[in-house]
Amino acid sequence: MIERYHTDILQLQQSLEGSVSFPGDPDYLETKSVFNAHVDKNPAIVIFPASIPDILRIMEFAGQKDMRITIRNGGHSTYGQCLIDDGLVLNMKNLNRVVVDPVAKIARVEAGALLRDLDMACAPYHLAVPAGDCPMVGVAGLVLGGGNGFLSRSFGLTCDQLVSAGMVTADGQTLELSNAINAKLFRAIKGAGQGNFGVITELVFRLSEVPESIYGGSLYWPASIAREILLQIDAPDAMSLYVRMILESRWVSMLRGQKFCMVHLSMQRIMNSRHPYESGIGWKAGYSGIWDV
Ligand SMILES: Cc1cc2nc3c(=O)[nH]c(=O)nc-3n(C[C@H](O)[C@H](O)[C@H](O)COP(=O)(O)OP(=O)(O)OC[C@H]3O[C@@H](n4cnc5c(N)ncnc54)[C@H](O)[C@@H]3O)c2cc1C
Repeated sequence: MIERYHTDILQLQQSLEGSVSFPGDPDYLETKSVFNAHVDKNPAIVIFPASIPDILRIMEFAGQKDMRITIRNGGHSTYGQCLIDDGLVLNMKNLNRVVVDPVAKIARVEAGALLRDLDMACAPYHLAVPAGDCPMVGVAGLVLGGGNGFLSRSFGLTCDQLVSAGMVTADGQTLELSNAINAKLFRAIKGAGQGNFGVITELVFRLSEVPESIYGGSLYWPASIAREILLQIDAPDAMSLYVRMILESRWVSMLRGQKFCMVHLSMQRIMNSRHPYESGIGWKAGYSGIWDV
């Protein structure tokens, strides 16, 4: 298909502030490589918009050529929903600006930003959005699925902090979404909207005050005493704890092959030490037997 449109794509490329990349290009290969190493999809073309007018042009082009389109933010969706075989991928990574207004306690986040961009922009003001535990997850990808994290016990879901959003629709409209404008669509993107309604271009979040330091980490107990441990946990309501039953297979060599009950304590970036993006982790569903705890 792509060969048929080669001249048109070169023309499109000239009209964009951003760039276009083809199979084999370094940027194409980087886009294709997502968190789940089992995913192997081959888009026809990847485009990196640098502005909203770029996104409008790309959507118009895809509509005229009847090309299927998907949007890539952090690339952490479980089965690589941000990629599409033989279609057009919009990689948002160049639109990653986060502007914090510490007085109004608002952050304006471009839709290519990752959680680390959001956290790093907010932290100097001791402000935060309750969001996920892995800094390489995309803000847009996360919030469109609802989003929760270690601050959620105190402040709620990520999508509940959304004040407004910007969107470009498939038919080329630029919309603002909020409780006052396009309210139904605004509600729809808060948890059910990954790529389904249009391209999100900007997200505006309400910020919450957080202490300067929050201690966190992971505790491991043998799975055989998980019941006793879980019954004894007595944590304040504001503290988020994640409990995972795991068969250690990868990270802690001393413990490999043993079953554990693992409790994570509040720390927004904790997952990066367990799931570094480069580690080529493959996820698939499977049955691990009944755990008698
Ligand atoms: C290691 C790891 C840790 C995680 N931790 C948490 C956690 O603590 N809390 C939590 O809630 N979730 C967590 N998740 C789940 C994660 O939030 C979802 O998988 C999310 O969809 C990933 O978003 P992404 O932008 O990184 O992925 P992508 O694959 O890039 O995008 C996900 C989906 O959103 C769509 N999308 C992306 N950007 C846009 C846009 N601008 N407009 C429209 N659609 C768009 C994509 O097309 C795709 O369908 C985690 C996932 C991983 C792999």
